[in-house]
Amino acid sequence: MIADFSSRKVQEDGIIKEKNGFFFLLPFKIRPECSIFMKTISPDSRTFPKNRHAMKYAILSDIHANLEALETVLARCHELGVDSYLSLGDIVGYNANPHECLEIMRSLPVAAFVKGNHDEYASNGDTVMAGFNPHAKSAVLWTQETLSDEEHVFLASLPYKMQVRGTPFTAVHASLDSPADWGYIFDVHQAMDNFSYQYTQICFCGHSHVPIAYCKKMLARPGELPVDELKLWASKPDEEGMMFHSDEADEIVLPVQPGCKYLINVGSVGQPRNRDPRASFAVYDDEQRTITRYRLPYDIAGTQEKIRAAGLPECLATRLEHGL
Ligand code: ZN
Repeated sequence: MIADFSSRKVQEDGIIKEKNGFFFLLPFKIRPECSIFMKTISPDSRTFPKNRHAMKYAILSDIHANLEALETVLARCHELGVDSYLSLGDIVGYNANPHECLEIMRSLPVAAFVKGNHDEYASNGDTVMAGFNPHAKSAVLWTQETLSDEEHVFLASLPYKMQVRGTPFTAVHASLDSPADWGYIFDVHQAMDNFSYQYTQICFCGHSHVPIAYCKKMLARPGELPVDELKLWASKPDEEGMMFHSDEADEIVLPVQPGCKYLINVGSVGQPRNRDPRASFAVYDDEQRTITRYRLPYDIAGTQEKIRAAGLPECLATRLEHGL
């Protein structure tokens, strides 16, 4: 969102931040109790800084109402000096703290919120949810009941995709070629379809809960595909066809090269599915020109206890410890 400097009201209602000559209006007021997550955003930053400074963006997807995972990730983001966040959708669904996760995310300086399929079903009153398994569906029905009217309106109002002004990013939950159809990107051909609609250097996505990265080269040799899966982040299918990562490091740094476009799935904060139960997210550093993927252990037992106390399906609790 770009601030209109002719409007005093806009300046009073929001927090304005300057980056590369663009001024951003952060859409939500930041409450004092959330200040542990703030590094550079404070009431004092309503005055425009004279010097531009490097920005760190944390990219979070598929939080799925997992408060323990979200708090762990945000504490690390605070240590890392993250300035701004991208929320790639599915804040709700599956786990038992949708209200709390929404409240926290809405209190942060978020440069882009986009909608996930669970956000859509939790807010549009759909009780059929074509293609959903019964456990996912029962969690969405529970979430529909749990959220306030205002939270339904907020989730329903989110866009499917967003080009983030003043950054090299596009944010989408599923894929840019058909963002409302909730297709998955698991191979270079699906990635190529996405790149056809990608007008920024980097597109961040989620949805599959499996971290994966693709690069589109400017020039491909004859007989070569123009898109590669980046080995650094590569996952492999096991004998049952499930994607998984073995011996995965806590942090993997991907340098952003000029002349390449990137499609990056940052994995899931609240329900990782690549047989690694640790929360997954990424940070873009615009000074270093790197994207770092992090994996963090969190209090899985605490999340499981809440799932059981809420009467949600038991399999939603057990899958968390297996990363499935
Ligand atoms: Zn999801």
